[in-house]
Amino acid sequence: MSRLLLATRNAGKLAELQRLLATAVPGVQVLGLRDVEEYPEAPEDGATFEDNALLKAREAVRYSGLPAVADDSGITVDALNGMPGILSARWSGRHGDDPANTTLLLGQLADVPDERRGAAFVCAAAVVTPDGTERVLRREWRGVVVREPRGTNGFGYDPVFVPEGLQVTSAQLSPADKDAISHRGQAFAALVPVLGELLGS
Ligand code: IMP
Repeated sequence: MSRLLLATRNAGKLAELQRLLATAVPGVQVLGLRDVEEYPEAPEDGATFEDNALLKAREAVRYSGLPAVADDSGITVDALNGMPGILSARWSGRHGDDPANTTLLLGQLADVPDERRGAAFVCAAAVVTPDGTERVLRREWRGVVVREPRGTNGFGYDPVFVPEGLQVTSAQLSPADKDAISHRGQAFAALVPVLGELLGS
């Protein structure tokens, strides 16, 4: 059985890629960062989602010797000219402070009328193999930023994001329903045939 490292400590992301690959590319065991020897992770200093996903995947290959997948994601808000973008996780100044990030975003958009509150969750997913082959792709999930948080599922900006075609925020979707349509779900699904091509026997 061949092995693939997903450069994440997030159990949800790992389970999602494991589920997708189990049927599409059988015979590949997907490991997470908790399953390999710990290595120093460099700062995500790329200029784009694609750059950051590639940086993380290259680093994972360098330390593990295994083919590796990494993703980078965030929210791009039209009225903020695409920001927070790659800075989404640290928008309020403290990495991963979801409530502060969301509160700051809502404050910035307070005077933006409903018809100009468009946004997209973006995910870039990269695969790098030990022989240096690299592929990266990007998927978007469009919607609007609403004025009040709703829902308790998900993380990050989910409570203030209503996806196109829905009336509920992505924090009001079940994890499985979100995975089926989200930027990350779409990017991982699109990566599956690429992995089949690169890893399949
Ligand atoms: P990372 O790709 O795990 O580094 O996530 C970057 C940041 O983007 C997160 O901390 C969230 O603030 C935001 N983000 C990315 N994907 C989502 C999502 O599916 N829901 C809500 N926020 C997200």
